[in-house]
Amino acid sequence: MKNYSDFPSFTVDFATDDDCRRFLMEQKWGTGFICRRCGHTKSVKGRTWYYRRCQSCKYDESCTAHTLFHKIKFPLVKAFWIVFQLSTLKKGMSTCAIAQQYGIHQETAWFFKRKVQQAQSNVGEDLLLESIEVDETMFGRDPDSKGRYPGTKSIIQVAIEVDFEEKNGEIKQRIKRARAKHIKDFSADTLSEGIEEMIDDQALVTTDGWAGYENAMGERWHLVFNSDGGENFKKLHWFIFTLKNWLRGIHHKVSSFHLQKYLNEFIYRFNRRNIFSSSTSEVLKSMVKSAWMPYRHAIEM
Ligand SMILES: [Zn+2]
Repeated sequence: MKNYSDFPSFTVDFATDDDCRRFLMEQKWGTGFICRRCGHTKSVKGRTWYYRRCQSCKYDESCTAHTLFHKIKFPLVKAFWIVFQLSTLKKGMSTCAIAQQYGIHQETAWFFKRKVQQAQSNVGEDLLLESIEVDETMFGRDPDSKGRYPGTKSIIQVAIEVDFEEKNGEIKQRIKRARAKHIKDFSADTLSEGIEEMIDDQALVTTDGWAGYENAMGERWHLVFNSDGGENFKKLHWFIFTLKNWLRGIHHKVSSFHLQKYLNEFIYRFNRRNIFSSSTSEVLKSMVKSAWMPYRHAIEM
């Protein structure tokens, strides 16, 4: 797929369901056919041009079968456009906005968005490297929550990979990539799990003086900085502010149960904010490789 710098040029190349099917055919069988039933590698045209039929067992498979595009209840071309917008719009798109813009049922929009999120998670994120700052934040409403007592709020552990750039003669910190994890408490074990999952073990990790981190860091290279009312972690706090704003803004209600999926979606877009166009083809490819998702699975996962 070529790089699309804007939505209109994407819609020119993907204007019909058949345009999308051609893309799916190429992704699925471009490097060869393997029958899902019997493992045979020779096929002929199936029931229509976008089906392949196994020469041995006659199993007929469409280009959407066993992908996240299977059994969607609206035209494939709309699905492609939604993927483009979800992976490139700075703030993503709410289920309501998708339903409105594409004239589909809100539940249908929700279900499809869940699939896109799944495909984004399957692409995954690499470990953060070199210089990292870590902090936690709480999300939700609970007037009793104070300091590190969350009450009914959800806790999010956030890590950013930072470096420095010179701008107009001034050295400025800049965030390269980020990760975020929904965690259950502030214990050293929980914090340590998050660190392991998100950060390379050779990186230098800077945190505030929270005692939990002393034990969570183990053998890692660790720097402690007093937060000093946010003065020492400006970029990190900006990032946390932006993340929470987004969570509050376009997603009216993010339950604790689904929180990690929204964090993944945000991180996915954030880490690809400078490679705008390749992220769409990355998600589309991941959707072809990801297994079909029944509705019940979408609710429970
Ligand atoms: Zn077969």
